[in-house]
Amino acid sequence: MLKIGCHLSSSKGFLAMGKEAVKIGANTFQFFTRNPRGGAAKPIDEKDIDAYIEFAKENGIGKIVAHAPYTLNGCAADEKIRRFAIDTMADDLKRMEYIPGNYYNFHPGSHVKQGVDIGINYIVDMLNEVMTEEQTTTILLETMAGKGSEIGRTFQEIRAIIDKADLGYKLGVCLDTCHIFDGGYDIVNHLDDVVEEFDNVIGLERLKAIHLNDSMNVLGSHKDRHAKIGEGNIGLEAITEIINHKAFRELPFNLETPNDLEGYAGEIALLKSLYR
Ligand code: FE
Ligand code: FE
Ligand code: ZN
Repeated sequence: MLKIGCHLSSSKGFLAMGKEAVKIGANTFQFFTRNPRGGAAKPIDEKDIDAYIEFAKENGIGKIVAHAPYTLNGCAADEKIRRFAIDTMADDLKRMEYIPGNYYNFHPGSHVKQGVDIGINYIVDMLNEVMTEEQTTTILLETMAGKGSEIGRTFQEIRAIIDKADLGYKLGVCLDTCHIFDGGYDIVNHLDDVVEEFDNVIGLERLKAIHLNDSMNVLGSHKDRHAKIGEGNIGLEAITEIINHKAFRELPFNLETPNDLEGYAGEIALLKSLYR
């Protein structure tokens, strides 16, 4: 069965997200741990979480993906911004242990003129400070489009972070189809080659989740603007191959397409119908 969901608003809590997911035909979902632009998270509501865990079990909702706020930049030049990123991630991870065994995805960060190597070292410092041997949450590094000075535009950059982090063996990767396409990986005409390159550089066993998005821009544009499924330059044919590819087909796919809930329900139904 296709594991498919989309990004949901976390403002009403976990049980509400679970119910919303089921309503739109999803069996996984993604949510922001707090306001995407940063700021304080809501207090933990253990009753809501317990009710969610029960609901998820009964309704076949599998592993879900928490997304760190966009403003989190663990490799900023400004020490205060790096400190904020570390504290936010540490707090998010503590909260994730209330729903054990799920995923926490983050954008590696933007090095802003410091260079990739310094940026990677700061990201590793952050991970070293927040990761523990005991944590049940798998942290995912998201592949990026390479907009501005984003780290994670190549598989090599992701690999370097995994190699350098003390507990790197616990890290996973979330592949965003819009991002890697904009980053220059031709998943439309050379999907098998891209998968092989991912396997050679990072290792497919690290790949834990997919962000399934079409792209408004062209291959290698380094832009990062998501399009609805089938309405961008990746297109429905390539997306069909992606959801059915043997390297991806068992993974959870989350849509981050510009849609309301009804739009998501439509895309989910469409993708289910294209799953072989
Ligand atoms: Fe993201
Ligand atoms: Fe994404
Ligand atoms: Zn994006």
